[in-house]
Amino acid sequence: MVGSVPLRPGAVRQALVDRLERSLGKSLAQATRRDIYDALSLAVREELAERWIATCNRVEKARVKRVCYLSMEFLLGRSLVNALSSFDNGLIDEVRDTLRTLGHELEQVAAEEEDPGLGNGGLGRLAACFLDSLATLGYAATGYGIRYDYGIFTQVIDPEGAQREVASSWLAQHNFWERGYGGVRYRVRFGGRCQSMRDQDGRIRHEWVETQDVWAVGYDLLIPGNRSPTVNHLRLWSGRGIIPFRIEAFNAGNYAGAVSEQIDAKNLSRVLYPDDSTPQGKELRFKQQYFFVSASLQDLLTQHLADRRPLKELPHAIAIQLNDTHPAMTIVELMHLLVDIHGVEWADAWQITREVCSYTNHTLLPEALETWPVSLFERLLPRHLQIIYQINRDFLEEVSSRYPQDLERRRRMSLINEDGDRRVRMAYLSVIGSHRINGVAKLHSRLMQETIFADFAQMWPERFTNVTNGIAVRRWLKQANPGLAALLTEKLGSAWENDLEDLERLKWAVDDVEFQQRFRAIKLANKQRLADTIERLLDVRVNPEALFDVQVKRIHEYKRQLLNLLYVVVRYLRILDDPAANLVPRVVIIAGKAAPGYHMAKSIIKLINNVAHTINNDARIADKLKLCFLPDYDVSLAQEIMPAADLSQQISTAGMEASGTGNMKLSLNGALTIGTLDGANIEICEAVGRDNIFIFGMTEQEVVARRAQGYSPVRVMQANSELKRALEKIDSGYFTPGNISDSRVVTDRLLSDGEHFMVLADFDAYAAAQEEVDALFAQPQEWTRKSVLNALSMGPFSSDRSITEYANNIWSIKPVL
Ligand SMILES: *Cc1c(COP(=O)(O)O)cnc(C)c1O
Repeated sequence: MVGSVPLRPGAVRQALVDRLERSLGKSLAQATRRDIYDALSLAVREELAERWIATCNRVEKARVKRVCYLSMEFLLGRSLVNALSSFDNGLIDEVRDTLRTLGHELEQVAAEEEDPGLGNGGLGRLAACFLDSLATLGYAATGYGIRYDYGIFTQVIDPEGAQREVASSWLAQHNFWERGYGGVRYRVRFGGRCQSMRDQDGRIRHEWVETQDVWAVGYDLLIPGNRSPTVNHLRLWSGRGIIPFRIEAFNAGNYAGAVSEQIDAKNLSRVLYPDDSTPQGKELRFKQQYFFVSASLQDLLTQHLADRRPLKELPHAIAIQLNDTHPAMTIVELMHLLVDIHGVEWADAWQITREVCSYTNHTLLPEALETWPVSLFERLLPRHLQIIYQINRDFLEEVSSRYPQDLERRRRMSLINEDGDRRVRMAYLSVIGSHRINGVAKLHSRLMQETIFADFAQMWPERFTNVTNGIAVRRWLKQANPGLAALLTEKLGSAWENDLEDLERLKWAVDDVEFQQRFRAIKLANKQRLADTIERLLDVRVNPEALFDVQVKRIHEYKRQLLNLLYVVVRYLRILDDPAANLVPRVVIIAGKAAPGYHMAKSIIKLINNVAHTINNDARIADKLKLCFLPDYDVSLAQEIMPAADLSQQISTAGMEASGTGNMKLSLNGALTIGTLDGANIEICEAVGRDNIFIFGMTEQEVVARRAQGYSPVRVMQANSELKRALEKIDSGYFTPGNISDSRVVTDRLLSDGEHFMVLADFDAYAAAQEEVDALFAQPQEWTRKSVLNALSMGPFSSDRSITEYANNIWSIKPVL
């Protein structure tokens, strides 16, 4: 923009006024908070755009290998403070001061931005943390996903305590962070039929004809690295009709028909499926997967060819990471593009595909292992089905030559599940088409190789590996907890921002009384802030001196919010028994969304809210116990909760949580973990030391053994009178006077024979661990010591470490710098 004032130190005010007047047509005097946000965002985005162009030029010149991270979900959180604080010139401080002179607080201005909720939970947030680390470490990387009009729903709690889902469009107001233009678009095809013919050289060529086509239109979000010249982009695809608006139909009065193709195409990117742990057997989701995969692959091949590089060099130019099986069609689509469109020989194309692709598994839950009916492929992607059959033939031949006569193994490993209606196993497709397959924590990676992929790991052990998840230090400490960030920087300088292991150097401070006091004061201020938010959201006043006990994550039976709730009820009954007892006061904070179709999860939310209502309004309880369900858990709310937590609940049934990342965020902000030996909890325990974490409950092996014995929750209940009383209280409708069945569905499930998540089986151990928590919290100095130790030990859980491992062991990429 010629003549515009760049946003640089010393010129923040001028830059702001310039955007207000020249871009928005507002004077400073007229400007609302939203206008200030708009003007600031514009100015920041121009800075990013400049760096982005420079990054592209550097990448092109250096011809470095680029990683393409394909994910159906990216849970980015807000952009303004993230971008501002990434600049290495102290700009954010001047912005904050300048806004104050104008009567605004930066945090409030930043809150004008809708969270782009383009993901459900951990998997989408991981993708966002990875993009942050890739840019910070200076790798050339592109994220590819879908530009959903409606991201994850807004969760509202109705007066009965139940979850209601409200559609939320992050695009309702102009989004300044998008670089949207019609410039990048690709044709994506569906339906039609296949025909084969011989070309001039006598080779058989396959053609896919009479298809129904849509446009995938690309929009870019710029991804800044922290104190790094690198700015990458996340390219999101939006559906558009190819056939233009049909004026004749419209004139003939057929208003719906005139726009029907437009509507069908736009439906492709209309909504995010609000679930990440069960496959949605929906045709539209199938189409979404192919839609974004096809557009992304066309995009990266177009760029590769524009660089005048031959296709056989693709593995030296591009690494594609499949974030779970949702983008598994990449394997097939790449084969289709290489063989059918670009005339590459099948065997060469297969070698390229496998060298380019790698796959991250995120779950062992059998219900989450995606399969699609063969009939759906037949109808919508007939050529791709042929390719899948060919891949399967080649693969099963390999199996047969390795294991002659083992027909059962062939059946087990086939890409096609022949039981019942024939279905394509997308996880197997991902494994077969990838040179590396990784799990996301040590335990999960081992179980993955022992269970769902055992046959494949036996055949190709060298392809299986682990990369433990991590979190972006910038968002989860620097931005979320500015008080603690400032203290760390005062003691260490700011190197920890891009090298979390540097916190180790501060370990001396664990026993330093002055440091402990300052650490504790920061925690208290964060708790005070969260207490204000709780009062604003729930109209419940909580004591910031109480123990803030936090469980925030999607609501799912395996995450066992019910274990937490049962213990809350036990505590409640204890206080009623002996109101004078000297208990550590607690504020139990729970947040998380339930998939709209997951009835048990929704019943759990309703029960939590009803128990909360009873306890919080019981005058006999006073400050001793509060239960707060905070609605609409998203990245921004998480950024408020994490820094204020004393205790982090990570209590999944062992073997079921692949990794978890909430556990890392909380520990980094000084919360102590009460947790099972599951997912990354095990590695957190190793990092902080067994004495600085509350580990309880069955191990994964004990879970398996107990289940094999035949698990009887009723017997467990009979053996623990407190637990029995709590269950009876809930079952009696005490907390849900209006509707007993609200509680009963939950107690019935908990007591059902062989209950899969074994909630009651771990109750005794959990309650005992909670007693230890109380005892320690009563010694503030000891507690703070362990809290400091937790924060300073999180070096291994930076996503910078995860990304470095992917870069070295899976992608073979080097930074551009
Ligand atoms: C980190 C995060 C998650 C994942 O939490 P887990 O405890 O690992 O399940 C989910 N949602 C949001 C908004 C997050 O920030």
